[in-house]
Amino acid sequence: MSEARLEGLEALFRPKSVAVVGASADPAKLGYTLVHNLIEYGFGGEVWPVNPSAANILGRRVYVSLLETPQAADLALVTVPNRAVVGVVEQAAERGVKALVVLSSGFGEAGEAGRQAEERIREISQCCAMRVLGPNCMGVYNIDASLNGTYFWELPWAKGRISFVSQSGAYGGVFFEELKQRGIGVSKFVSIGNQLDVSHADAIAWLASDPDTAVIALFVEAVKDGPAFMHAIRQAGKPVVVFKAGRTHAGSRASASHTGSLAGEREVYEAAFKQAGAILAADTEAFFDAVVALAAYDGRPLPGSNRVGIMTISGGPCVIASDAAEEVGLEVPVLAPETQGRIRQLIPEFGASGNPVDMTPQVEAANIGGCVEAVTADPVIDGLIFINVGRDYPEFGTAFARASERLPVTAFVSSAPAVLSGLTGKVPNFATPERAVRAYRALVEYSARTRRIQNSKFKIQNSSIAPMNIEGSGVMDEYEAKRLLDRWGVPVVPETLITGPGRHEFTPIRKLATHFGFPVVLKAIQRDIVHKSEMGAVAVGIADVDQLKVAWEQMHDRFPDAAWLIQPFLPGDVEVIVGAKRDSVFGPVVVFGTGGVLTELYHDVSMRIAPLSEADALEMIEETKAAELMRGFRGLPVHDPAEVAAVIVQVGQLMLGQPSVLELDINPLLLTEKGPIAVDAMAVIR
Ligand code: ADP
Ligand code: MG
Repeated sequence: MSEARLEGLEALFRPKSVAVVGASADPAKLGYTLVHNLIEYGFGGEVWPVNPSAANILGRRVYVSLLETPQAADLALVTVPNRAVVGVVEQAAERGVKALVVLSSGFGEAGEAGRQAEERIREISQCCAMRVLGPNCMGVYNIDASLNGTYFWELPWAKGRISFVSQSGAYGGVFFEELKQRGIGVSKFVSIGNQLDVSHADAIAWLASDPDTAVIALFVEAVKDGPAFMHAIRQAGKPVVVFKAGRTHAGSRASASHTGSLAGEREVYEAAFKQAGAILAADTEAFFDAVVALAAYDGRPLPGSNRVGIMTISGGPCVIASDAAEEVGLEVPVLAPETQGRIRQLIPEFGASGNPVDMTPQVEAANIGGCVEAVTADPVIDGLIFINVGRDYPEFGTAFARASERLPVTAFVSSAPAVLSGLTGKVPNFATPERAVRAYRALVEYSARTRRIQNSKFKIQNSSIAPMNIEGSGVMDEYEAKRLLDRWGVPVVPETLITGPGRHEFTPIRKLATHFGFPVVLKAIQRDIVHKSEMGAVAVGIADVDQLKVAWEQMHDRFPDAAWLIQPFLPGDVEVIVGAKRDSVFGPVVVFGTGGVLTELYHDVSMRIAPLSEADALEMIEETKAAELMRGFRGLPVHDPAEVAAVIVQVGQLMLGQPSVLELDINPLLLTEKGPIAVDAMAVIR
């Protein structure tokens, strides 16, 4: 499995000496900004500007080349025009520089010549284990080492415990602005640009081991190495919050399989993030809210469940919060009768004690502490959301700050400066009730993820099945695909294929049908028939020989060359799809959902990256409506999800063991009284 690489990253984040190649004395140039930023932000190590013509920049001696600096620099910031970069990289390698940041652009993002230059830089740097960040990036900032190795003019000075890995440099600007506005500090920032060498995974792994980083925030456009990326997040041991740009729905519509058209790029990315345990943000607001909430609760107790208490003095905003809680899957349970009794003693008669708890604007300041204390002590909830518009009793601030020592609290407090100042540093405050709720939800998600990783059901079993030898390429028909599934332990319908000259006669078909016993299913199998029922190539529920004869004669007229597949017509209650496709970034993606001929219409699917644990597969089932059907929706028989999960896991194993399978559909996997059975399948082979 590919993994993150840590070596050399120490020199990138905590260098003792920094050379600036392309340094300039002209304040309008970025080569000036870099030198200026290093000095201005108090970098304590050596700073060596490099420029063949200038003599002195900001009072520092300038060196003609990297070869002339007093020692080999730990880190070189490179801001020369793109044509000159390869030459600088050669010099850096010769001099023994440990890490390079190539800020210059005009590489892979600009076309073929740029891609070739990147390839060359990769070769040179690999030879001497020199790490390269970028190209086409904004640099690196480490406030703990007073290192501002970026193009940014204005970076926050406040130290915090949030670190940010951004593919886009400019989105880094958004990040810094957000933190400044919210009065929150930063720890590290790294802009990875084209990821020629240092990738998301490398940066995540380094930040995971950094004691000053509590939360890792990621802005992702495209992941370079899916398995390494997922592994780094899994191993991080701290929250990783992801915002992914470019989330169009476009699936690969050209796919022959249902799975191929259901699993678009966006869905695959989201599945991979979720599976690895990242907190996925839908937009910029949710991204920073989640980061801020998780940073606020670093080292403090997280919610043990999704059950939350909502406490307010403001009716309308509280209703909004309750709605939002329901939408994001938080439970707002009724408080215990004893708790409610205590609360009623402390609030006006027209208040509400159930949950949400409405203390009303008329609540006496002296009673606030007792009221919050009563709710906090009720084991039915694991955290609080506090809503207050305009009642500025400092007691609110004190009470909720104290509560946050025992359980997590997020807040929407507005027009109440004294309350806010009481909360500062303890309870994170958000700009709307919905955002306070969603930020709380991020805490629940991270906490659930931590428990999930400790759960042994998430362990992956290795498979010992010997792969099947597959020849040729193109579409594998139903019959062949089921032989492959059978090899991998997926239950398949008993069936016989009639080929050769016998396929033009009714007798063998009749004999087989009698052998299986009516009712039976007759299917025409032929290369160009992919979705059979669309073309009239399936007859189900054939009750006797007469019906069989009529069905066969009609199909034989239409498909005179087809082979015939005869199966028993199985009584099934629910049709699901289990499929897989190979993703260029993440590898085999396994898909589960509501199946049958209308699969695309329902679009009720979930997906994960193989290999899968049983628990992964059970989660996939739970994410779809098929789970409801399997629980016996409207009197339908109940089906054991573990049996379906086993098929899902095996399809993942098949994809790992049979690399020539590009796409695979089991549709439907029929859920019968005797368990799940694949009655139709197809595969695309490379
Ligand atoms: P298609 O190529 O159109 O997907 P299928 O083989 O999946 O063709 O058949 C279409 C539908 O017929 C299935 O979704 C299922 O409802 C039903 N069907 C097919 N084979 C069987 C079978 N052996 N037992 C019961 N129902 C079946
Ligand atoms: Mg089918």
